[in-house]
Amino acid sequence: MIRFENVTKRYRGTTRPALSGVDFEVQRGEFVFLVGASGSGKSSCLRLILREDVPTTGRIAVLGRDLRSLANRKVPYFRRHIGSVFQDFRLLPSKTVYQNVAFTLQVTGSSRGFIQQAVPEALALVGLDGKQKRMPHELSGGEQQRVAIARALVNRPQVLLADEPTGNLDPATSVDIMQLLARINAGGTTVLMATHEAAFVDQMQRRVIELRDGEMVRDEVHGGYGDTSNIPRLVPEEVRGAAAAAALTAVQEVQRQTADLSVVRAALAEELSAQRRAASTAPDAVPTASEIPEAQAVPIEPQTDVQPETTPEAKPAAVGPRTHPIVLPQVDVAEVGVADRLGLSDDGAEEVGPTS
Ligand code: ADP
Ligand code: MG
Repeated sequence: MIRFENVTKRYRGTTRPALSGVDFEVQRGEFVFLVGASGSGKSSCLRLILREDVPTTGRIAVLGRDLRSLANRKVPYFRRHIGSVFQDFRLLPSKTVYQNVAFTLQVTGSSRGFIQQAVPEALALVGLDGKQKRMPHELSGGEQQRVAIARALVNRPQVLLADEPTGNLDPATSVDIMQLLARINAGGTTVLMATHEAAFVDQMQRRVIELRDGEMVRDEVHGGYGDTSNIPRLVPEEVRGAAAAAALTAVQEVQRQTADLSVVRAALAEELSAQRRAASTAPDAVPTASEIPEAQAVPIEPQTDVQPETTPEAKPAAVGPRTHPIVLPQVDVAEVGVADRLGLSDDGAEEVGPTS
């Protein structure tokens, strides 16, 4: 599902490679932690998977596609199969919860009927029904991250990438978010989560890929961050196939493919300038084009050396070792009633559909 073959990434103007000879493969349905200290290359890996950047040498295949040969114009379609969430949530500050989740669907031309069904379902899945009309600033950090997760899932991606998703949250809220990610994974979505927070990794006992100075130093099936000898094992979850409501997928694909991209870009440009105007009064979280997957169409710009305003790893290690494992909810995702539409029910494990 995701394969790195001897991947090296050197950023311009740097001496040491950010990634060096990285080799791994993630199978469908896995939950994988990507761990390592700040600067070890975790975010670089995720950016390469999203094709926000390209490796200097080596090969990356995602969802059966060799990213080297993926044409720039196909990148936006490719990205629709990959949900992503970040430490800083990246919500549009002047839009409601509902609008934040609906936005991507709107600009990619989903029908009004589909949006009206899919958005409430995604919000219900993350436990936020009833908060549709709230503004992001009216929500707690954990709730904001749930909105971001709903937004990432509303497109029913096969893969969810999470870059330090608990980095801005207190320990209790972080556990909630981890449980939500575990539940999403139990529904069949492949999850790759970058984190430097040892406690979660130790408790979840999932596969761990560790980077140190850009080199892969560990790939462990039931890993922990450090000494895990005292940590009780979680019962492995049943991994169900990534599901597909096939008819819905087909309809959605047609909608997407027929969406006039110039209209999409115009809508995005309009939206972004509106957001920037709004941001002159609300300085937080000004969305940039790169925060909206479809805006990243072509061409891929070289990465600059801009660091995020908040450094994730600068946060003091608030989470001490825990003595109890995170208890994974025994939720039958299908029962939530939205599983099919979010691609979380069983059967119908689909290979990625046509994206061009
Ligand atoms: P992590 O997410 O594990 O903190 P990153 O992937 O962000 O690590 O960074 C890995 C290394 O690459 C660091 O040394 C970082 O300074 C460098 N780096 C990351 N992005 C860029 C960039 N756009 N330009 C130059 N160097 C970068
Ligand atoms: Mg990072």
